[in-house]
Parts: sequence; C-alpha cells; structure tokens
Amino acid sequence: MTTETDVTSDLLRKIQGWIEMETPSHDQAAVAGLMRLVASDAVASGLTADLREISASSGPLLIVSNRRPADTRPGILVLAHLDTVHPVGMLLRNPFRIEGDRVFGPGSYDMKAGACVALEALKRVTARGDASLPVDMLFVPDEEIGSPASRPEIERAAANARYALVAEPARAGGHCVTARKGIGAVRLGVFGCSAHAGLQHAMGRNAIRELAHQVLALEAMTDYAQGITVNVGRVTGGTAVNVVPEQASLVGEFRVPTLALANEMHARVLALQPATPDVRLNIEAWINRPPYERSTGTAQLLAQAQQHAAAAGFALVEAPMTGGGSDGNFTAAMGVPTLDGLGVDGDGAHALHEHFLLSCLQPRLDFWTGLLSGLT
Ligand SMILES: [Zn+2]
Repeated sequence: MTTETDVTSDLLRKIQGWIEMETPSHDQAAVAGLMRLVASDAVASGLTADLREISASSGPLLIVSNRRPADTRPGILVLAHLDTVHPVGMLLRNPFRIEGDRVFGPGSYDMKAGACVALEALKRVTARGDASLPVDMLFVPDEEIGSPASRPEIERAAANARYALVAEPARAGGHCVTARKGIGAVRLGVFGCSAHAGLQHAMGRNAIRELAHQVLALEAMTDYAQGITVNVGRVTGGTAVNVVPEQASLVGEFRVPTLALANEMHARVLALQPATPDVRLNIEAWINRPPYERSTGTAQLLAQAQQHAAAAGFALVEAPMTGGGSDGNFTAAMGVPTLDGLGVDGDGAHALHEHFLLSCLQPRLDFWTGLLSGLT
C-alpha cells in the first residue's frame, strides 16, 4: 500500500531532479534535456508525449496528453513552463535543500514544482481512468522571455480548450490568479547629427538630449489610478565625450489592465514626436501579452476550483490583479476561462532565495487530481 508520505517523497525526488537540471530560457540544449526527461516519464505512465521543435533559438515544446486518438472534444489545457530566469551555476548559490518547510532551488517555485505536481495529478487521474474531459498539458521552453516561439502552439491548443489551468506559482498564502495586466514593448531610436563638441557644437543635434525628452514623455504616461505603468528599462547612446552624439535608443515596456487601454497606450507611444528640431525618431511598439481580464467564464471556473480546493483541505482565495504576465494571458484573451497561479505556494521567484513550501505538496496534488478529474 502506498502511503501519503511515500507519494510526497516520490514527488519531491522528482522535483529535485527537475531543479538540478538547470534550464535558462536561452540554453536550448539544457531545456531540451529536461523536456526529454519529462516526455519519457509521461510515456512510462501511459500518456502520450509530443516533443516539437518550434524555433531555432529555443528548446522544444512538449505536449503531454491523455487524449485518445479519436477524441477531439474541447478539453482541459494545462500550461506549464520548464525554463527559468536563472543562469547555469545558480544551483551552486541556491542548491536544492530542505530547511524546515522550505524547499530551495532555482526555478523551484517558478515553476518546476507546480509543473511536476500537475503532471503527477494527470498521471493519477489517467491511471484511475476517471478523467471526464481530455487533458492536454503544454510544457513551454521560453515563457520567461515572453513565449515568442511558443505562443502559436499555445493558441492552437487553446482553440480546442474548454478551460485553461496555469501551474504558475501561487501568490502569497496560496492565492490564485484570475486577472493579469497585459504587457506592451517599446523600442525607440533617436537619429540626430554628430559634430565636434568643441569646434562645431551648434551644428550638432544631440540624440541623447532628445532621448532624455522621450524618456520623460514615456514615464509620464504612468497612471497608477488607471493601473498603467511605463518603464524605460535600458538606454544606449553616443560614442565619445567630445562628440555630439548622433544616435541614442531605449527599450521599455508598459503594463495595462484592459485591452482598450492596451490599444490606447500603443497608439500614444507610436504618436510620440521629437522635442527638438532636425531630429528623427524611429518608434516600434507592440503588445507582447494581451491583458488577461477576469471573465464570467473564469469566475465560474474559479467557483468549481474552490470546491476541489476545499475537498483537498484548503481555501482557494483569489489574489488581486497582478502586474506579472504569463501564458494565461494568451488563453484568456482568446476567451477561454483561465485560472492561473495554481502551482505551489512559496516565495522568491526570480531571486536567490527562491523556494516553495513542502507542506503544500500533498494538498496541491490532491487539488489538481480533483480538478483534472472533476471539471465539467
Ligand atoms: Zn513562471
């Protein structure tokens, strides 16, 4: 007979194996290695695993499913990512270890433990044969860099999904996510005119000076009351101290709670004008992740999920809208009821002290098992 402790220690060993394979988004070979491990684990449990090369610059994407070949019904789409923000070597600074209730390691909380729990639940449900809907689980290789290569695959899967469940880390206290801001990107180049800074200063058009105007104009679009933030994250420009700079550039991003505001901000950024004469701007702006607005479908899905959480022994509380994006933004924007932040509880995402809470493993596994078998 398998006891509860056995289940948790097996699961923990598996999570340790995933954490100890470091997988920065840009390291294709490393990400591919973990994807292959997960694929063979899934196949050994009677699931299908489809490893797809999706881009020359990212690792492969993995689709694990319990769908029978002839079953084309809209099902449950589970989203997880196996890449992390941490460079290889972070494991030396934050090694896998257990301290009291905390389990440390790079990518532990965001989101290898949550992904592993969801997969284990899918295996359980499949072994018992009690899934009421087909389940397709996507392991994404490039979420931490905005999922550029995975987005078409996610949207293709979402087109045949009744629900989307995202195993991203839970918010503090185990709270789940029902709305996320959308994220827009800005790239702005300034083209002025170079000149000798001593001999012909008046003939120069200083691109850095103009860029400073644009930085202030962009940052001034921040409106906390409306939930809009703009961040200029990097600037470059100039060549030498005695040269009036010809070129300067910035990259930035904006975050917005609704699609209407996303479109409005996109237009405002593109409409920026130079503040100085004889200077040209080149502006690119696009929506990286559309806003994930809380829909009626999502509220109904939350109500079902809360019942499964209660059965697993905890209260599933909704967190306020978060500024961080996820792959749930894509599915929600397509109108698929989406529940996010269903992974493990913990702290320190993207940080040196990243960890999850050991005590949440069993209840989360029970919760996911209930969800994957019981959603109607
Ligand atoms: Zn994540």
